[in-house]
Amino acid sequence: MSQVNSLLNRMPNPPSTSHLGWQQELASAYRHPQQLLDYLQIDNNAVNQWADANKAVQSFSFLVTRSFAERMQKGNPNDPLLLQVMPTNRESAVVDGFGQDPVGDLQALTVPGLLHKYHGRVLLISTGACPIHCRYCFRRNFPYQANQNNTRQEQQAINYIQQRTEINEVILSGGDPLILTNRRLTQLIDKLETIPHLKRLRLHSRVPTTLPSRIDDGLIQRLTQTRLQTILVTHINHANELNSNVVIQSLDRLALAKVKLFNQSVLLNKINDSVKSLADLSERLFDTGVQPYYLHLLDKVSGASHFEVPENTALYIHQNLQKRLPGYLVPKLVREIPGEMSKISVPTLHI
Ligand SMILES: *Cc1c(COP(=O)(O)O)cnc(C)c1O
Ligand code: SF4
Repeated sequence: MSQVNSLLNRMPNPPSTSHLGWQQELASAYRHPQQLLDYLQIDNNAVNQWADANKAVQSFSFLVTRSFAERMQKGNPNDPLLLQVMPTNRESAVVDGFGQDPVGDLQALTVPGLLHKYHGRVLLISTGACPIHCRYCFRRNFPYQANQNNTRQEQQAINYIQQRTEINEVILSGGDPLILTNRRLTQLIDKLETIPHLKRLRLHSRVPTTLPSRIDDGLIQRLTQTRLQTILVTHINHANELNSNVVIQSLDRLALAKVKLFNQSVLLNKINDSVKSLADLSERLFDTGVQPYYLHLLDKVSGASHFEVPENTALYIHQNLQKRLPGYLVPKLVREIPGEMSKISVPTLHI
């Protein structure tokens, strides 16, 4: 048993968080870069690329929870958590190959809010809201307004799944599906459970590390009750995101509720683009009961070019990661190519 788990076993149960608790926590999030920089005691004037961050937040607003900010190092403008969320003037750079819809989401939309790209799996955009705004987000330009799954559209999506018996897994994505209230999630799971050919429910979420109090009693209870095998894919890019007892307790509660935990990361320039950083991340994830799954090359969305790690560097890092870790701690290096039937392993000959 890992040190973290044996430590947790000696701790009392985490305090139950009320429904209002996490929503209040979200309401108190930082909504302006200056607020966060003040908290971190970083002088904006000393950091050139942030000088006109105001322009960047006009096209993609700023949002960082206090919980996430608490894991940033005070006074460090290069903190790997800070760099994920800090807008910069480099976002307005127009770079060849970077576009609005880098993964071909729009061509995969079947009914509003439902993406059917891969065999046996559909992806439901359950909300456009997130607990945090990541500047590298590939859906930063996604037309959520037209594709938020309101209850009327949700029924259309349910009908679509009902009619196709080859679909056995529904992936709730967004935005972040765990931003939905327990009431909304319960309604949705209730409906999905009635579809006999569905076996698995998967959630992709950044909530466990950005708004851990959201993993509350009501959520755990509902996930414990479902007949569907439940999988949570966390999106964690750096080991420091796990430096919090509340985060570790939240993941532990999910694991106890028989939710299978996997993680996917994005390889990000100056944030996690080293063998050491990724090895630390894999080790920390596994300590916490989370299985490393994917390491994604950046999706080339406009505004995110400064996060790109060249493919050769990515391969070099990944090969050295393989030399350093047991196989089960090495995430698959993948990229998404619009129109393909799965994520594509790197390197792959494109025939
Ligand atoms: C990534 C993705 C999936 C799931 O892919 P897995 O390889 O099963 O993790 C499903 N649908 C869409 C649209 C995706 O982008
Ligand atoms: S949580 Fe996910 S969907 Fe939301 S901004 Fe971050 S990367 Fe994008």
